[in-house]
Amino acid sequence: MTNHLIDTLRARRGDSSRLFIETADGARLTYADAERRSAQYANAFVALGLKPGDRLVLQAEKSVEAVFAYLGAVRAGGVFLPLNTAYTPPEVEYFLGDAQAAIFVCDPASEAALAPIAAAQGCPRVLTLDAQGEGTLRDAADAAGTDFADVPRGPDDLAALLYTSGTTGRSKGAMLTHDNLASNALALVETWRFTPDDVLIHALPIFHTHGLFVAINVTLAAGSSMIFLPKFDPELVLKLMARASVLMGVPTFYVRLLKSPGLTPEAAARMRLFISGSAPLLAETHREWRARTNHAILERYGMTETGMNTSNPYEGERIAGTVGFPLPGVSLRVVAPESGEELGAGEIGMIEVKGPNVFSGYWRLPEKTAAEFHDGWFITGDLGLIGPDGYVQIVGRGKDLVISGGYNVYPKEIETEIDALPGVIESAVIGIAHPDFGEGVTAVVVARPDATLDEKSVIDALEGRLARYKCPKRVIFLDDLPRNTMGKVQKNLLREQYKGLYGS
Ligand code: ATP
Ligand code: MG
Repeated sequence: MTNHLIDTLRARRGDSSRLFIETADGARLTYADAERRSAQYANAFVALGLKPGDRLVLQAEKSVEAVFAYLGAVRAGGVFLPLNTAYTPPEVEYFLGDAQAAIFVCDPASEAALAPIAAAQGCPRVLTLDAQGEGTLRDAADAAGTDFADVPRGPDDLAALLYTSGTTGRSKGAMLTHDNLASNALALVETWRFTPDDVLIHALPIFHTHGLFVAINVTLAAGSSMIFLPKFDPELVLKLMARASVLMGVPTFYVRLLKSPGLTPEAAARMRLFISGSAPLLAETHREWRARTNHAILERYGMTETGMNTSNPYEGERIAGTVGFPLPGVSLRVVAPESGEELGAGEIGMIEVKGPNVFSGYWRLPEKTAAEFHDGWFITGDLGLIGPDGYVQIVGRGKDLVISGGYNVYPKEIETEIDALPGVIESAVIGIAHPDFGEGVTAVVVARPDATLDEKSVIDALEGRLARYKCPKRVIFLDDLPRNTMGKVQKNLLREQYKGLYGS
């Protein structure tokens, strides 16, 4: 047996002297460097006691070393578990306790606070990922051998335990197998036509499926290269577009890039592909981007539990407001939430997916896992439809559905109408407990500074366009919508903040 994920990611690689990663400060690392450095991490982890199947938790700022630690952990047969760098010590405590980590790697700045927590949660090894210094993981890797015989792992063995973003509730650990990750990387290389000549601008965090498994695994599987930025910086990204070919971003990247006067067709002329995902891309952003750059953003849809499910086509039309078609090998259907029966084209229901990308269950939550599968299909929790032309649309999250006066109200329908009003930048529609209606449809609106909108003008404008039960009862104006690090709107925070709005 071989190491399924690592071998799949190596399979198409040609000359190992080719560039793999270039950093913002000019370091250039080849595929041969990646092999050597990840072997050193694998050797160091084994020496520290990591056994096949053990969890290695890493909470560290984005760095090339963290990428090699990820590859080293998988080569050593471990289960890689990256944590959001924004998590506070009590949050880290929860994840360490839940995952029962064998090794915890953190940044030097957080070591003093986190080491006792890790020890209390039964983690025997805590190390820092430091530039220098005795006793650091970097040090252990530097001293380790540059050859490593990969620990054999089959397609169904776990490669990663990735926690969901916690947008709708407590984060759950998704158990991802070698084949989940390998098959998804190959499907994306094919769908997005990646070749060794591609240069990806990598400006995403690497603790999330997007920046880690989409961006890094696709690069490895294609044998292409990436320019690795510590964080998203619109002006730097604009400059790099002159010598890169692909950008993977969340919608806020595109919104921020559109604010720069430097975004012109010439600036984007060398790029071949702009990809967006992790949160819905506004149709207006899609339109503006096309007008400013002559490129149609390719929107795709995925989640921690499944990797990527769908993508707009590379060659066919990329339709704004849709997430395209299921990836090769992935099946997607829409069912009625109550009866579970499959719905026809254009009907809104619960999206379910099946395929080699679907995870093997929630870590230590067998009941939750069983409840989220329906005849072998994973219930995504997202509401959507398949159009007559086969394009999938996401209508919102099941948990965001508002039931007002007994009617189902899909927030996205109302948000689309509000966003089209002059002076509106964006909006979020939520349901808030209401003594008469059960839930009151409530709109949170971000308006342009020069707009002359008020609650009454928004409600009046909507009343001509939407059935009365869909119209917001109240409109709240905010400067910004609360978002998490992946650009997802945190409706749970809004619901909590305004829970007493209707006095119940
Ligand atoms: P939790 O499951 O803990 O509540 P989360 O669902 O936000 O958090 P992720 O797995 O990071 O955690 O996000 C997946 C979700 O992101 C999808 O289920 C979907 O709701 C949303 N999403 C991803 N891509 C898109 C897209 N292109 N359009 C609309 N929504 C998207
Ligand atoms: Mg989710």
